[in-house]
Amino acid sequence: MLLFTPGPTPVPEFVRVAMSEPTIHHRTPEFEAIFAKTRTLLKEVIKMPEVLMLASSGTGAMEACVTSLCAKKLLSVNSGKFGERFGKIAKAFGIPNVEIKNAWDTPASLDSVLEALKQNPDIDAFCIQACESAGGLRHSYEILAKAVKEFNPNIMVIVDAITAMGVEELDVSCVDALIGGSQKAFMLPPGLSIIGLSQKAIEKIEERNIGFYFNLKTELKNQVKNTTAWTAPTTIIIGLC
Ligand SMILES: *Cc1c(COP(=O)(O)O)cnc(C)c1O
Repeated sequence: MLLFTPGPTPVPEFVRVAMSEPTIHHRTPEFEAIFAKTRTLLKEVIKMPEVLMLASSGTGAMEACVTSLCAKKLLSVNSGKFGERFGKIAKAFGIPNVEIKNAWDTPASLDSVLEALKQNPDIDAFCIQACESAGGLRHSYEILAKAVKEFNPNIMVIVDAITAMGVEELDVSCVDALIGGSQKAFMLPPGLSIIGLSQKAIEKIEERNIGFYFNLKTELKNQVKNTTAWTAPTTIIIGLC
């Protein structure tokens, strides 16, 4: 069967073959070597100083980024289902949220972002999609991220690149967290999410130390040592590697 969705996508045969080997335990030198190599390769692809892999779909990484990087007020862009989701996550955690709502075919304007920042000096995180899959919309996230950082360099910029990471070369110069998912551009089965992190994001994560399963401080501590806090989705990581 052929899948014509943004994801899950068809998984190429060479990847399926790589994943058909007997399951290995995640706390073994054998898997740690694969994990280390995958970390290196991912950092090369996304060009960020740190990367985390989580056993979750992309939404899990979105939740982890919002809770870990936003303490006061979230500014999010809703130009479709996935942008709307950032607002829903904020609501679920009682995080105040300012939403810029547009039609599905309308990218976020620079003016609307700057206006929201001026009106809400307590905004400490900004969320946007690189590609909003709902309507197939490419936001000029690079321009908006740069403007946000010029306004206040301490605002954390979270970019959902679930249908962009691995598709095009992404400008991460003003991005603190870049989110990817296995079942979209990476053409793997669902179940692995990826978060690229800036140095500033790492500091914020350590300072906030929030959550349990999605505690990114716990993950960082383990993943720099080429292991994961909880059981890793070993098969998908082998497919990615
Ligand atoms: C698919 C998608 C998501 C959600 O990812 P899940 O893996 O379904 O949780 C979020 N953002 C974008 C842009 C997507 O395409």
